[in-house]
Amino acid sequence: MPTGPTLGAEQLAALGAGFTGELVEPGASGYDTVRRVHNGMIDRRPALIARCRNATDVAAAVKFARASGLEISVRGGGHNVAGRAVIDDALMVDLSLLKGIYVDPDARTARAQGGVLWASSTARPTRTASPSPAARSPRRASPG
Ligand SMILES: Cc1cc2nc3c(=O)[nH]c(=O)nc-3n(C[C@H](O)[C@H](O)[C@H](O)COP(=O)(O)OP(=O)(O)OC[C@H]3O[C@@H](n4cnc5c(N)ncnc54)[C@H](O)[C@@H]3O)c2cc1C
Repeated sequence: MPTGPTLGAEQLAALGAGFTGELVEPGASGYDTVRRVHNGMIDRRPALIARCRNATDVAAAVKFARASGLEISVRGGGHNVAGRAVIDDALMVDLSLLKGIYVDPDARTARAQGGVLWASSTARPTRTASPSPAARSPRRASPG
């Protein structure tokens, strides 16, 4: 089992200060659930999981990984069969909480954030008359 790099408490605290999502370290409750992907044969242990709530969180996580020398994996729906969403000892940028769907009826286009699955995009279409909170803010752009 990989032991992983030791993340500095100061570095983690600095990341946590501006982070609106959730930071999940090995040993924390939920770690084993969040690192799991669709392919149950994949059993990898990231050094840290950054569960992002917006694009600012994503940027902060990437900067943290760069400063800490951590490899980055990106998790969207977690359905990549090879399990590329999760790497041992890396920082997982987890987009699964990002469920915003932005519909432009005039252009007949839709944009979905990185955590949207087909099931939710077809079962719960966003109506422009009652946009999601994320859709009201143009700054909360879709990272996916
Ligand atoms: C049962 C099943 C059925 C499926 N059916 C279909 C289907 O009908 N049609 C279809 O098109 N596909 C299908 N797929 C394939 C799957 O939907 C695709 O692989 C999809 O693109 C996965 O997206 P995701 O967001 O779940 O990726 P995740 O599993 O979350 O993976 C993240 C992605 O990001 C990439 N990534 C990770 N780290 C980095 C990094 N640092 N830099 C850049 N990229 C990175 C990975 O390579 C990976 O592609 C199916 C898969 C399964 C398991």
